[in-house]
Amino acid sequence: EFVSLDALVRKTAAEAPQRSAVIDGDRNTDYARFDDLIDRVAAALQADGLLPRDVIAICALSSLEYVVTFLGALRAGVAVAPLAPSSTPQDFAAMLKDSGAKVLFMDATTAAAMGDAAQAPFKVSFDDSGWGRPFTAWCAAPGTKPKPISIDPQWIFNIIYSSGTTGTPKGIVHTHELRWRQYGQLDPLGFGPDAVTLLSTPLYSNTTLVCFNPTLAGGGGLVLMKKFDARGFLELSETHRVSFTMLVPVQYRRIMALPDFDRFDLSSYKMKFCTSAPFAAELKADILKRWPGGLTEYYGMTEGGGSCALLAHEHPDKLGTVGQPMPGHEVRLIDEEGRQVPVGQIGEIIGRSPVMMQGYLNQPGKTAETFWHDADGNRFVRTGDIGRFDADGFLTLMDRKKDMIISGGFNIYPSDIESVLTTHPDVVEAAVVGFPSEDWGETPVAFVVLRPDAAIDAVALKAWTNAQVGKTQRLNDLVAVETLPRSAIGKVLKRELRDLRQAAQ
Ligand code: ATP
Ligand code: MG
Repeated sequence: EFVSLDALVRKTAAEAPQRSAVIDGDRNTDYARFDDLIDRVAAALQADGLLPRDVIAICALSSLEYVVTFLGALRAGVAVAPLAPSSTPQDFAAMLKDSGAKVLFMDATTAAAMGDAAQAPFKVSFDDSGWGRPFTAWCAAPGTKPKPISIDPQWIFNIIYSSGTTGTPKGIVHTHELRWRQYGQLDPLGFGPDAVTLLSTPLYSNTTLVCFNPTLAGGGGLVLMKKFDARGFLELSETHRVSFTMLVPVQYRRIMALPDFDRFDLSSYKMKFCTSAPFAAELKADILKRWPGGLTEYYGMTEGGGSCALLAHEHPDKLGTVGQPMPGHEVRLIDEEGRQVPVGQIGEIIGRSPVMMQGYLNQPGKTAETFWHDADGNRFVRTGDIGRFDADGFLTLMDRKKDMIISGGFNIYPSDIESVLTTHPDVVEAAVVGFPSEDWGETPVAFVVLRPDAAIDAVALKAWTNAQVGKTQRLNDLVAVETLPRSAIGKVLKRELRDLRQAAQ
């Protein structure tokens, strides 16, 4: 039976008031105080006149205030739109307006970065910086109880804006019921009262919330890291005996590259998660070898279509895949005509599950394009990703459809060329994009980060690559770059690479 997340927190507060709920720097907040803060936020929102189904926006780095505001809003039946502090002021203003938020919560750093774009009917500052009302004064007095609200599972829980990897961020609507089902699904992975979850990815992202929600639902504790650095991450892991974490591939890479990685005691880890961008098989293998506990990779999207999970520790022979459909998820591959493709062949990934979004906020057209119906009228989400199933039912992810290169009538998958490039010992990372060509329509161009002491140069590396790939996949150009442009959640921004190249011409 449905129980709202804040009610589960209240239950833990009654049963284990002294258990640690949130560790933010040197502030360790137990469940009793955590639950009281949630009450005080809910009461303050009600005092501001907010009603169930209203929306608030939070744009800030991770903090205790952030977490209690998130939960306090839910307790008042108010939906949360967490926005990315790394957004441009223009994108931020657009998302804020789109969300319809009545109250905006920020910290001093973010408020300064957003400048005039940070406008809302009510403003609250987490760090009492002078921008908006100071959080401590805005909160209701200790012990204040909000007017009890009975949460309807169909109410909006949150509006998560997509990463904007392929274009303007879209507001993805999740209901309470969807989130409740989701943390139930993750429960078998072991989140329970003993969980200590270190979160170093930003709280606005679904990537983070897939660990945040089940940790709190299970009565575990969160350790917050405002700004990631590899060494700081390992130090926090050791100090707090961390058992769960979610990291994106680029963070794993930085951590595993630390020369003294093996000196840290990480024996408290039960499970590590990874999602959001391609996760190299060699990196997974290295983690399995040197970092205690399991490793689970998720493939999915904020829209909640067909998600897959790879329990890497159980399937060390499948590290090149993103695993099998999660329980309750149906994942299919279709061709351009919408026909299901046979095993072993490439198609667009579509999926359905009990945890699909309600739709995109204020975008009925985009919502209709994203939902796809089969002959029986079943509704699927189109992921825009391309993949292939093997005979054992494991999914290999190729590329986003938008990144596929069509050259002289052939489909070129950038990931095929990227995986050849990254086998070269002098290559740290590589991204291949299509560039307009008069002769071919499009032609592949590689952007490569070389090791500082690399012996090979761009010309030689291009020749080396072209000797190994198929004739149609041969690179037209290879450019050595210092870094690849990435979003705040660590995804390579291929559209920026295409623009970069265009600007240079
Ligand atoms: P936008 O929709 O605004 O362009 P986005 O698609 O990056 O942004 P998210 O919902 O955060 O927004 O990310 C989902 C996408 O991330 C998937 O469609 C897929 O392309 C990629 N992705 C997710 N998990 C993995 C994974 N394990 N390996 C590789 N790519 C992944
Ligand atoms: Mg997307």
